[in-house]
Order: sequence, then C-alpha cells, then structure tokens
Amino acid sequence: MIHIANDVFQIPVTPRQLVNTYLIGSTLIDAGIKFSGRTILRQLGNHRLTAHALTHAHPDHQGASAELCKKLGIPFWVGAKDQSAAESGLVVNNMPNPKHPVAIFEQNFMAGPGHPVDRILQEGDMVEDFVVIETPGHSAGHVCFWRERDGVLIAGDVLRNINFFTTMPELSEPPAIFTTSVETNKKSIQKIAALKPQVICFGHGPVIRDAERIQAFAKRI
Ligand SMILES: [Zn+2]
Repeated sequence: MIHIANDVFQIPVTPRQLVNTYLIGSTLIDAGIKFSGRTILRQLGNHRLTAHALTHAHPDHQGASAELCKKLGIPFWVGAKDQSAAESGLVVNNMPNPKHPVAIFEQNFMAGPGHPVDRILQEGDMVEDFVVIETPGHSAGHVCFWRERDGVLIAGDVLRNINFFTTMPELSEPPAIFTTSVETNKKSIQKIAALKPQVICFGHGPVIRDAERIQAFAKRI
C-alpha cells in the first residue's frame, strides 16, 4: 500500500500502477480484476474493511468485488446506473462494442462474478469523509469520491495517468473503446477539474499532485 493522504492509501494490483484500488478510511474503492483478491488482502494487512465501493462496474474494477464482499462480509456500494452490471457481472455490455475482441477478453478473463448491491451511490452521498460526485461517461454510473478539506479526489477512470502501451505516466482520457460516451465523459472531466483537486488518484497510473495540470488538460479537450 502506498500512503497518499490522511487515511488514504493506494493499493496497486499490478506492477507499475497499471491497475489501482484505494483504501479510504475502512472502505475499499474498486477491486482490480478477478485475480486481484489475494494481492489486495495481502497489502491491507491488519487494516479492517467495513465496506467496498466501486467507481464503476468494469472488469478491471469489480474483478474481486464479489470475492472480497463475501469473504469479509462487507456491503457493496455502486453508482445507480452501474447497479445492473455490478449485480449481473455482465460488465462489458455497456461498452460501445461488447463484441470487440478486447471486450470479450475482458469479460472472460478479467471480470468477476456479479454481486448484490447493498447501497446505491448518488451525488452528495458520503462515503467515509468523501462526498460522491456523479461523473458519467466512461460508464453511465461512474462516480468519483471527493474530499474538499485536503483536495483529494479518487477519480476512477474519468481520466487516466498511464499510457497502456509504454506503461509510462501520461495524463489522458480513457480509451474510447471502453467508454460508453466520450462526450459525456468530457463533461465529467470539466466537472472534476472545476473542483480544483490537489491530489488526483487514478484507476490507472500514478497519483498527480498538481491541480493546474488537470485544469490545463480540461481546457485543452
Ligand atoms: Zn479501468
């Protein structure tokens, strides 16, 4: 686990922070792919979990969700419009082309099974000391978690900070082939940039501690 801010840790589930989960307080945000359960539990060590929330129900975020919720007996919290994907486990159906070979690969080899959702997350809800921000586009029910006090944003996949081919840090939009609506996601990028986050935690890539870079990026797109 990498300490990011007060009561916030990044838990990468792959080398080079290619895929990340986060611990905020005692809530696990995202759960990697279906093989990530063990590495998450190992990194958590003695940290006790009381809940598990998703930024969105995609195969690289809900992979170990069912396993961890069952094993630890913790509730599962998901944005309203991602509920059916999270519960069915059919998590590429809302991508632009679910029959794309990469989508089929993700469904078969990365996605975890569905799991009943215990709480629907909506704009303004609190998760620990973070407020839920609805940020649709990458998926319809995508949410971010925002703590104004110290400017920490768990951004999910509204933006990423990695080039998937070189694995070098690179601030960019999520890949269009995995994004339900690129245009709607651009609006969500504007929405989070307007918060002026100081510490931006991505589903993919290392954390950025520079509010101006996010704002400059949001202006460019
Ligand atoms: Zn992702």
